[in-house]
Amino acid sequence: KQVATILDVPFTTRGFRETVDHITERIQGGQKTHVVTANPEIVMVARENRAFRSIVEQAYVVPDGIGIVYAAKWTNQPIYERVTGVELLEALMAKADQHQWGVYLLGAKPDVIHLAKDKLSARYPNARIVGCRDGYFRPEEETQIVQEIAEAKPQLLFVALGAPRQDEWMAKYRDQLNASLMMGVGGSFDVISG
Ligand code: UDP
Repeated sequence: KQVATILDVPFTTRGFRETVDHITERIQGGQKTHVVTANPEIVMVARENRAFRSIVEQAYVVPDGIGIVYAAKWTNQPIYERVTGVELLEALMAKADQHQWGVYLLGAKPDVIHLAKDKLSARYPNARIVGCRDGYFRPEEETQIVQEIAEAKPQLLFVALGAPRQDEWMAKYRDQLNASLMMGVGGSFDVISG
């Protein structure tokens, strides 16, 4: 069985490597995928917020946090390892490097996102970073940002606006974004830039 259910949230039971390969296949097969890296806090938000639960139910949810691994163990479900956002981002950047995918980076403070972009393009020189934008925009700028991403048609869209807002944001614009894979990455750009 490839799905485990923890407090009504459906998680993939694939391990890290398998998850990376599966997501890669989905991208290559043109299946639009929203990855949510869910820790126990996100599971609680999904329990309390019906709109957010429906977003999570339609997403590809990976176990980000040892608390999820334990919860699976207690309920006899086969989740054996964590899949964290920052590790998944790096692994997908390696795939982007290999396949020359386009990548759009959205979120974090202006200096952080520019540093993260420079570090990622140095490490993955064949990945095409087709756009980059900080996460402190005004609501009236959103349409233009969505349009910019849509025109860039990235294979990968990484969004750091804090959870759960980043996932609400991607779900809202999912149909317009023209990204094969979109994933909320929380504080990952801060980690990468540091
Ligand atoms: N962030 C942003 N815009 C905002 C709020 C947060 O770009 O309006 C960024 C913040 O700079 C950080 C990332 O979102 O890079 C994650 O934020 P935080 O650590 O607060 O969220 P969490 O760890 O809970 O996901």
